[in-house]
Amino acid sequence: MSQSTNTTFLIIKKIWLRFAKPFRGLFLIAILLMIIVAASGAIYPAMMQQVFNYLAGEETLFKQNFLTVVLMGIIIIAMIKASAMYLQIITVNRFAQSIATSMQRKMMDHLVDSDLGVTTQNSSGTFVSRIMNDVNLIKEAVVRLSNNLVRDMLTILVMIGMLFWFDLWLSLLVLAIYPIAFQPIVRIGYKQRKYAENLQITMEHVTSDISEIIDGARMIKAFELEDKQKARASVMFDKLKSAYLSLLSGRARIDPLLEVLGGIAIAGVVGVASWRVGSGEMFVGDVVGFITALLMLVQPVRALGTLNAVTQEGVSAANRVIKLLDTKPRLKSDKNATHLKAEKVEINLKNVSFSYNSTPTIEDLNLQINEGETVALVGESGAGKSTVINLIPRFFDVGKGKISINNIDIRKLSIKSLREHIALISQDSILFNDTVSANICFGRINAREEDIKNAAKKAAADEFISELPEGYNTIVGPHGNLLSGGQRQRIAIARAILKDAPILLMDEATSALDAKSEKQVHNALEQTKKGRTCLIVAHRLATIKSADRVYVLESGKIIETGTHESLLKQKGAYAKMVLLQRFS
Ligand code: ADP
Repeated sequence: MSQSTNTTFLIIKKIWLRFAKPFRGLFLIAILLMIIVAASGAIYPAMMQQVFNYLAGEETLFKQNFLTVVLMGIIIIAMIKASAMYLQIITVNRFAQSIATSMQRKMMDHLVDSDLGVTTQNSSGTFVSRIMNDVNLIKEAVVRLSNNLVRDMLTILVMIGMLFWFDLWLSLLVLAIYPIAFQPIVRIGYKQRKYAENLQITMEHVTSDISEIIDGARMIKAFELEDKQKARASVMFDKLKSAYLSLLSGRARIDPLLEVLGGIAIAGVVGVASWRVGSGEMFVGDVVGFITALLMLVQPVRALGTLNAVTQEGVSAANRVIKLLDTKPRLKSDKNATHLKAEKVEINLKNVSFSYNSTPTIEDLNLQINEGETVALVGESGAGKSTVINLIPRFFDVGKGKISINNIDIRKLSIKSLREHIALISQDSILFNDTVSANICFGRINAREEDIKNAAKKAAADEFISELPEGYNTIVGPHGNLLSGGQRQRIAIARAILKDAPILLMDEATSALDAKSEKQVHNALEQTKKGRTCLIVAHRLATIKSADRVYVLESGKIIETGTHESLLKQKGAYAKMVLLQRFS
């Protein structure tokens, strides 16, 4: 248990230092308000004692206008307590929400800056779940911890003080029962952490599966996988249900335990009190005051009873958030990195090897692209073509060998300046759910309208864009779904043209286009290539023919190099591909 307490404390400390500290002003205000709430609460039992002593004709603090003063007092105190409570709830929630928002921002920033290896190896749902569900749990725990540790603890201390003030022996009796009964409650709290962790992991799987099913809607229909997917969803919702129920069964045990405890305490108090009143050692008012204080203890004690459970849930979530934030990107600019500034570039890959995991993907690869040249990479699917493209902007770093631009190792260049020199057109021509204009603009933020239009014209996209309902202001839908494949590709090309970078990397789309779109995309590409150093993963004969050189890749190794004509004459692997018309 002490190990758990230690880690809990460490994680809370980390959260405080990394996220909560900037909002400590709010926390301080909340504490002040809580002190007011606890102090004003303490006056009630004292008033009850006085009222009942007055009614029983016994001793009271004062006699003049007793009832009027006491009744007015009760109302005024209730109002003070209510106002302080209202402000305190708002302040605590603002404090917790500020922490949550700051966490969400930091997590998003971190994910955007993460290595591609991290974001591509996990489903997006996993990250969605961490940013939404885990942060929510942490927020709840922060609210509870702030409220309970300060307000409820203070209330408990004040009320215990009142109990002792009313009667020493009765108080000792109550205090003897509570700690014994609290043991099982603390144990339940620690168990909750395991259940909470299980729930969060299940939640991550479910979010990731939901997004996969929705993203794959087209394939599901095409392959009539509806029933299979529904069944898969149903099983995972069942798992989620049982994870929830396990967590709740722990929580549900706490309140009844406290109920029994409260019952025993009250019964004991009433028994002992009536005996002490009978023997003249206590006044009726003292008994009523004592029971009032005891009843006022129930709520904060209950809250403390479930506090450990909620804290453990929050701690398990915080642990995962911290783990995510602490995975440092391995790909970073060197401290003394050179800032690349070149209009003309040549690229050289020398003895490059690379692997995503234990099996090598690229082996001892040599490739040269001279200034203004276009090189086409061809080969079977899985040969490693896209991987070569990924290595140039340093999405991944080479394992062995080196890649240089104008004879400088790209690891010595600042990543920002390296990527500024590259325009990438990827196979999936990713578009964001924004206007056509904004999607082209990603090539150069703040580009003038005129430049956007010019880029679109060169990419043979201006015509179809002008025919869209809102022209350049038409929203393209999630992933650009409202446009055809050919249109999406031309927008991606326009984006690259607008960026006007000296290097063009292109992973040509494998999806088939109709003849007209194919020609338009090809012409757009020819425009883009002019004056740039280009590396193209080519799937179309027309693209390959217009390249200065072709590299044929097989299982991560270059097996043939030459122009289209010279390779045809070799009658090797390339000639076979042309014969079969298979370039992927
Ligand atoms: P190509 O573009 O020629 O089809 P790729 O470069 O995409 O080939 O893939 C080469 C190999 O690397 C394949 O076996 C593929 O499964 C593997 N691979 C590609 N991307 C990743 C990745 N992010 N993580 C692990 N393996 C990958």
